[in-house]
Amino acid sequence: MSAHILIVEDEEKLARFVELELIHEGYAVTKSGNGRQALDMALQGQFDLILLDIMLPGLNGLEVLRRLQKEKPTPVILLTARDAVMDKVSGLDAGAVDYITKPFAIEELLARIRVALKLHAAHTFGALNTPARDGVLTWKELTLDEPRHQVKYAGHEIVLTNREFLMLKTLLENQDIVLSRDTLLDRACGYDFVGETNIVDVYIRYLRSKIDDVFGVKMIHTVRGVGYVIKQDES
Ligand code: CA
Repeated sequence: MSAHILIVEDEEKLARFVELELIHEGYAVTKSGNGRQALDMALQGQFDLILLDIMLPGLNGLEVLRRLQKEKPTPVILLTARDAVMDKVSGLDAGAVDYITKPFAIEELLARIRVALKLHAAHTFGALNTPARDGVLTWKELTLDEPRHQVKYAGHEIVLTNREFLMLKTLLENQDIVLSRDTLLDRACGYDFVGETNIVDVYIRYLRSKIDDVFGVKMIHTVRGVGYVIKQDES
């Protein structure tokens, strides 16, 4: 069964182009150019993934995303404008799984779609390190409870700053995937400290001092010249 993708984009040419590419890749596709209509379609239909533009007539994309996540959580990749930093931050905070900046190469969009669908399927069918319940990520005895903004190791609460929390969350969501400092910074801080990706090293140090050092585990691995990773099967 092919995945069903909803494209929400009011730039008709772009929407059509993406639609044709997705159909070519074997996906089932539905389109909408209006935020309000798209929200109705998403609430009533059964979509595996939604590509969501932000500047839309009817209802803006972020509002569509917020209402959707509240009523019917569905994986969303945001289509954002260049430099729309706050949109990216708000979008990820509101529950988007990813975003891509326009104009984008179709290959990059297709790659992100594959990742988003795979992650979603893995969560749904338990192939990955599945959260015990909604919004809870785990690694060994560590739990990160997103709704409660709480991190515990074997029942002991660990107090993290917001940035540390986001960085840990990003690593936990991508176990066994090496994340670059740029990616971590982008996902955890939402914007680019140009030339200051070493700030990531600082956060990693804080996290290690609060978790690895205290509980005697090796959670966060450094991959020289690349970035950081939490490995599922290694302690
Ligand atoms: Ca638009």
